[in-house]
Amino acid sequence: MISSPQPNPPTPPVPFPLTVTPNFAPRPPAPDPGEPALTPPPADSTTTFVRKPKLAGAKSRKREIPEGLWTKCPKCSTMVFDKELDENLKVCPQCDFHFPIGARERIHSLVETCTFEEMDAAMVSVDVLGFTGVATYTSKLEAYSKSTGLKDAVLTGICLIGPHRAALGVMDFSFLGGSMGSVVGEKLTRLIERATEKALPVIIISTSGGARMYEGMFSLMQMAKTSAALAYHAKARLPFISVLTHPTTAGVMASYASLGDLIIAEPGAMIGFAGPRVIKDTTQADLPPGFQTTEFLLDHGLIDAIVPRPELKDQLVTYLDYLTAGLKAKAVRA
Ligand SMILES: [Zn+2]
Repeated sequence: MISSPQPNPPTPPVPFPLTVTPNFAPRPPAPDPGEPALTPPPADSTTTFVRKPKLAGAKSRKREIPEGLWTKCPKCSTMVFDKELDENLKVCPQCDFHFPIGARERIHSLVETCTFEEMDAAMVSVDVLGFTGVATYTSKLEAYSKSTGLKDAVLTGICLIGPHRAALGVMDFSFLGGSMGSVVGEKLTRLIERATEKALPVIIISTSGGARMYEGMFSLMQMAKTSAALAYHAKARLPFISVLTHPTTAGVMASYASLGDLIIAEPGAMIGFAGPRVIKDTTQADLPPGFQTTEFLLDHGLIDAIVPRPELKDQLVTYLDYLTAGLKAKAVRA
């Protein structure tokens, strides 16, 4: 910090467009080599500048924090170290805000090591309608496949969760908003049918914006198909646990996601069919506070429990202990 007054009036480091006057001195020669090139005027300066000149180096100060190491929590604004966030399964350690989590990461957090046997890993959507909007459906699929490393918005497979063999489906919102097209519907249907055949419980972790409109009626058909498969699964007296995460809406919520023998949800998730704005516009009525949140739906009986993500695995094991207690030994051996 400069404390002594300088003999000469300080000079702005960059042209100062707001204070250009006819009497403004011409640009002086370069400063002494010993003096920093960008010296701001001292605090007690009596210069006539009305505003401190912006330092050209001010921007570079921000870059001192490397990108990708910290994430700002949208709920409490705390800067959370990414490593800490990963270790806490993408839950803010300060306020328990649940960040989105990818399907693979979710599976990794739930199943026993190396026990996930993925099903239908190569199944991809076909552009059956020849859909063209801002971009073609095919190009969208390619772009999302590249950015997420997934073939579609769900991963399915048979795995071990604690001591229990189970059929697990996990959706990923980062692939086209977790929308349900024919691949999501078909993969889940095959998973449920395999579970029925092998007498296994089904767990589906949902996050979705609904049916995939790029596939029109073919996406809507998946609602009936998955629901029918679950009906056969229920008829075989096998349990289905539906886990709802932020957000689970529209066609997915209107089909398999709401058909669980047990429906549990993560805290703070938005769950519903149409969004609150659409409902408000349609009904012309004010919606109650907290409408369509997990907490509201627990109070109104749609869901059975709210389970924070770090506790999900232990809770699933406990639920499976109860729900599979009556199954024969072959059910847990597959
Ligand atoms: Zn937070």
